Amino acid sequence: MLAVKKYLLSEDDLPTRWYNVLPDLPRPLPPPLHPATHRPVRPEDLAPLLADEVVAQEFSPHRWIDIPDEVREVYRIWRPSPLVRADRLEKALDTPARIYFKYEAVSPAGSHKPNTAVPQVFYNARQGVRRVTTETGAGQWGSALSFAGSLFGVEVTVYMVRASFRQKPHRKTLMATWGGEVHPSPSTRTRAGRDVLARDPDSPGSLGIAISEAVEDALAHDDTRFALGSVMNHVVLHQTVIGLEAKRQLEIADDYPDVVVGCVGGGSNFSGLAFPFLADTLTGTRTGTRFVAAEPAACPTLTRGRLAYDHPDTAGLGPLLPMRTVGHGFIPPPIHAGGLRFHGDAPTLCLLHDEGYVEARAYDQNEVFAEAVRFARAEGFVMAPESAHALRGAVAEALAAREAGEARTVLFGLSGHGHFDMGAFDEFLAGRLEDYALPAEQIEAALSALPDVTAAGA
Ligand SMILES: *Cc1c(COP(=O)(O)O)cnc(C)c1O
Repeated sequence: MLAVKKYLLSEDDLPTRWYNVLPDLPRPLPPPLHPATHRPVRPEDLAPLLADEVVAQEFSPHRWIDIPDEVREVYRIWRPSPLVRADRLEKALDTPARIYFKYEAVSPAGSHKPNTAVPQVFYNARQGVRRVTTETGAGQWGSALSFAGSLFGVEVTVYMVRASFRQKPHRKTLMATWGGEVHPSPSTRTRAGRDVLARDPDSPGSLGIAISEAVEDALAHDDTRFALGSVMNHVVLHQTVIGLEAKRQLEIADDYPDVVVGCVGGGSNFSGLAFPFLADTLTGTRTGTRFVAAEPAACPTLTRGRLAYDHPDTAGLGPLLPMRTVGHGFIPPPIHAGGLRFHGDAPTLCLLHDEGYVEARAYDQNEVFAEAVRFARAEGFVMAPESAHALRGAVAEALAAREAGEARTVLFGLSGHGHFDMGAFDEFLAGRLEDYALPAEQIEAALSALPDVTAAGA
């Protein structure tokens, strides 16, 4: 008999609630601070910017939050997603470890991002918001939000970093197919964009500038709100559907992870997978489970950053968040894992890392792509460069298990497919992919520009 390859849940098994880690944290999460006054941000401060329900979830003390039926109805399109036993990779590695991956590439946009785009747009639609704005780098988040907008009749305006707008024309087409309106950023539509263009007409743009444009656009229109694809508590909350499903699937496999590995950009897919398992650790139900966050060596927030209050955007307009950051002025080298080029991480993840519940590893591009190619030749799927960081971490754990002669269980998150990243694979296969050495001075310079909030802080 053949061993089980995929653990598939039925649509009846789709989770009915998301898991909120806030009440289970080992110490209270410091509040976000207003960027100008440095006073704690109140929910009503965020109302002009974000949907009311999303703001409520951001501060919710409740451990479980119901998933609306309208959202579950859409989740059915691709959820529950498969949990796959990577037994062919295990053989290739000659390891006694059991490796599983949770496959989020089955969503229409090809990544985990629709898990939060759908509820965010739904809550906006329910309160009568006509249009949602956002920023996107490589285009994954803009695609997910455009997809969600098409489902609920909400217009989506995407400010896409100009360099990516030129490099990745097909992401733009994907967004346009779902009805999303895409503008290269900096644009002439906002003051923030016009200011940048006045100084530098050829500016390639940045995520920070694009966020500033999307925020300004939302604040200037009563019928418009902004949506974020990572970092915030409500985004992490929505992503826990990943880990909740994986837990049920591993129960069916009669297994439980010794180690959970995920890639970290802003921390949403890692936390979404890990937190439902971490809940068992935090509540004392289980001991000994390890959690490993894999990040690029070119943007080493957890491994080389500082735990401090910092802005989520380069312009310093967004609320100060308590996170491990390399500084909002830090401009990471142009690695292909565009989704991992963020200077900070989700505050809950940073707190759990600081308390020793989450370990972090940093990897270079070439070792990451080497694993993605080995995986493609063993298991078939060609994954996103972002996801390949998680794979690199999982393989390291499987090899450590071989060294120890132990049949450890390794679970990793495969956050998206790499079908829009062929240019990057081309470079790797041709031996032209660069690893970027990051001088300590570059991080020190960005850290020295961190806002000083000790005086007015919470
Ligand atoms: C955006 C993205 C990431 C990084 O974002 P997180 O919030 O850290 O999850 C990782 N993988 C893929 C495929 C992405 O699109």
